[in-house]
Amino acid sequence: MSEPRDDLLWRPYTQMKTAAPPLRAARTQGSRIVLEDGRELVDGIASWWTACHGYNHPHIRQAVAAQLDAMPHVMFGGLTHAPAEDLARRLAALLPGDLDHVFFSDSGSVAVEVALKAAAQVWLNRGVAGRSRFAAFRGGYHGDTMGAMSVCDPEEGMHRRFGRYLPEQLFFDLPDTRARETAVDAGLARHRDTLAGVIVEPLVQGAGGMRMHPPEVLATVARLARRHGLILILDEVFTGFGRTGTLFACEQAGVVPDLICLSKALTGGTLPLAATVATAEIFAAFWSDDPAAALMHGPTFMANPLACAAANASLDLFAREPRLAQANRIAAQLEEGLAPLRGRPGIRDVRVLGAIGAVQLVPPTDLAGMKAAFLERGAWVRPFGDIVYLTPALTIPEEDLARLTGAMREILGAA
Ligand SMILES: *Cc1c(COP(=O)(O)O)cnc(C)c1O
Repeated sequence: MSEPRDDLLWRPYTQMKTAAPPLRAARTQGSRIVLEDGRELVDGIASWWTACHGYNHPHIRQAVAAQLDAMPHVMFGGLTHAPAEDLARRLAALLPGDLDHVFFSDSGSVAVEVALKAAAQVWLNRGVAGRSRFAAFRGGYHGDTMGAMSVCDPEEGMHRRFGRYLPEQLFFDLPDTRARETAVDAGLARHRDTLAGVIVEPLVQGAGGMRMHPPEVLATVARLARRHGLILILDEVFTGFGRTGTLFACEQAGVVPDLICLSKALTGGTLPLAATVATAEIFAAFWSDDPAAALMHGPTFMANPLACAAANASLDLFAREPRLAQANRIAAQLEEGLAPLRGRPGIRDVRVLGAIGAVQLVPPTDLAGMKAAFLERGAWVRPFGDIVYLTPALTIPEEDLARLTGAMREILGAA
């Protein structure tokens, strides 16, 4: 075992000088992470909510192993393959409405980039100039690449620091009151000639603070986008594949977007893959005799066969195992386990939706102290800002989830 070096691996969103060194993971199994030193942690995060079936599911492992033997990768220019075709057909069948045209990429951020680019290009292809901006919502998170960053919350997204490097978008509060609805309506009316579309995370703004909104608010966003003739992009990178209790969050509002972004749990947390899926109407704007009207994007590892095989196996599991019922069972256990924290000193809010439980604290928060306290209790929980959240595997055993909610009550209730 080599000594860890603290400057070799550049870590995500981490001040390398002052942050505690990372723990060294050795193995995973089910909802557990085993560290090199032998400690076994119950995972409250499912690796940024990707590992929806738990870790090392044998069905996904077998599918990927078989694909590895046959063809790990092949370029997607001029070639196609069964894993990608099967996956596209299955996604189109599972998604609502006529979201039938699937563009594969390799991360959530890129899925968002592709959606933004496609929406802007729809207008160009229709011969309408000057419509390249987007309306987005405060509290949102859509990824770390430049276009995706530009539609993230303007404070959290650090827009000011990057200044003109980022395209300037139009921000609103989610229309969860009549006054805010009026503000969105008026803002979209005023700026519609410069706007390509509207982007929103349906039902839960995830990495921006686990803020939840009722389906009616999403329906309002969709209605206002339609009223002003804007392309509606739903970013379901966080919410897709059962996290909110339905396969896709937009189902709960009866909303069918023009473009939808999927990633995170798409491969059951095993391999990087993302999809941007468009309706027939969006796709039609690219269907032309003009080569320049084609969608101008093409990742090197587009539709990687290993990742597509993993995603197909993950969809098998959604079809044959009761994942949505499990998500709803987790919701009930999270509600019961976290409810005692409501109204306690230092607790601002307790929120549960599907297999997402979030406790919002009154700042200032001692993040390092909390992380250490969770570790002491054998729980892998990573608070950020004023939020402590659980997004476990949908298959987490009841007693493992009880350990997580128990640790939340002990650590946060004592604050
Ligand atoms: C994680 C996330 C992204 C970015 O996905 P990456 O794979 O990290 O690029 C985009 N949108 C939402 C809603 C996310 O949760």
